Amino acid sequence: MPSFRGTQNPAVTFWGAAQSVTGSMHLVEVSGDRILLDCGSVRSERGPSRARAASFPFEPAAIDAVVLSHAHSDHCGNLPHLVRQGFAGPIYCTPATRDLIALMLGDSARIQEEDARVHGIVSGEPDDGLPSVSARHWVEQTLSQCIVVPYNESVQVTPHAELRLLDAGHILGSAMVALTLAGPRGDVTLTFTGDLGRRGLPFLHQADAVPAADLILCESTYGGRLHQDVDAMADILARVIERSATEGGVVLIPAFSLGRTQLVVHYLERWMECGRLPRLPIFVDSPLAAGIADVYARYPESFPDGVVRGRGGEVVGVSPLSTTSPPHHLTSRYVRSPQESDDLAEQSGPCVIVASGGMCDGGRIVKHLRRHVDDPRASLVLVSYQAPDSLGRKMLERKPTIRFHGRNWNKWIEVVEVNGFSGHADRDDFLAYLGPLAERTGKVRLVHGEPGQAWALADTLSDAGFADVDVPAREETVPIG
Ligand SMILES: [Zn+2]
Repeated sequence: MPSFRGTQNPAVTFWGAAQSVTGSMHLVEVSGDRILLDCGSVRSERGPSRARAASFPFEPAAIDAVVLSHAHSDHCGNLPHLVRQGFAGPIYCTPATRDLIALMLGDSARIQEEDARVHGIVSGEPDDGLPSVSARHWVEQTLSQCIVVPYNESVQVTPHAELRLLDAGHILGSAMVALTLAGPRGDVTLTFTGDLGRRGLPFLHQADAVPAADLILCESTYGGRLHQDVDAMADILARVIERSATEGGVVLIPAFSLGRTQLVVHYLERWMECGRLPRLPIFVDSPLAAGIADVYARYPESFPDGVVRGRGGEVVGVSPLSTTSPPHHLTSRYVRSPQESDDLAEQSGPCVIVASGGMCDGGRIVKHLRRHVDDPRASLVLVSYQAPDSLGRKMLERKPTIRFHGRNWNKWIEVVEVNGFSGHADRDDFLAYLGPLAERTGKVRLVHGEPGQAWALADTLSDAGFADVDVPAREETVPIG
């Protein structure tokens, strides 16, 4: 086990999301204190079918504190494993993140327990991964170790580290992490952006200003590209939904349950309210998304609903595409029970079904696809990244038929891609967030991006005047200050 660097001087070691986008985990060490930033699992949401106990490259019991940026699984999913393997310290996060990880980790524990049970029945052997009966126990224990910290309040998290969380504008509760570290040669500062939101989307508040620091760890998921603008997204959806209204087909939208689903539903409702899209019933077929919607409803102050705010919170404009007090407010219907979901799958259009399973490989989207893939009146709108081996990617390929679930299908459904519903900053967003800091920043290290995206952003930032920008490898240690 490589264990700890043991340096008194402040430093950070990259243990995950280094030249990749999953498994976010960075270890900060200062004067003997050890603070873990994020503890993510390697695949998000519906991960490998049988989750295994994670192993850590350090002794979990020797970590003093964890700071969690947000509730996506690739940032929090390994917390129960860390706790199970001996971490007993505090986990700092925003109140909304604490509520959301209760759902996210609970859902993944339920899947692990189901998988372990099925494996036990099929193989006749006890499961050799996580002890099935205890997955939920470790989630409960993890939640009991959470200490909530509202945005912009400073707290001492270890003897040598003071923490402040700032709004990252990515999903409800998402935070940037600002640390002031007392090293042997004085204080140094570290900013970890977590995942940073897009500017200009009127759904969540805009991200706070990124604090200047001796070292900025910045995500780079889409550091080399520009997202579709909101008008173009509305145009594509208008055409698809008008066709559904006319011809009576179903519009299927697979989406990950946390973040993407809420964003897509928000836009569909607002655009239908203001007449940009024809009004059709919207069904959200995901029990997890239904639970998440309940959490979102607990934090109304987090949703400006059409009001675009500047960095100081001041109103800088109102989106022409949304209305702040709609005369006929639309509400989507959430489908929770398996029976309701089966009934929905038998229904014909016109309607819109947003279902769990962003890449079509699992989740409730699968049954709807089986039902409608050969219906020429139906549409499939892909709003998420589709991995090369996913069913969603196969649906996008221009082949006359498609094979899944053991048979060939005619694929008469129309398949459309809309790439602008991202919760992540693009190249111009990063320039706007970081550009003003070039003179006041020591180093920038780009994490949470495939090498192509990360290096493209590194070039952009170097051109913008940053003197020391790099893309660290896994296990690399960088001094802070
Ligand atoms: Zn995220």
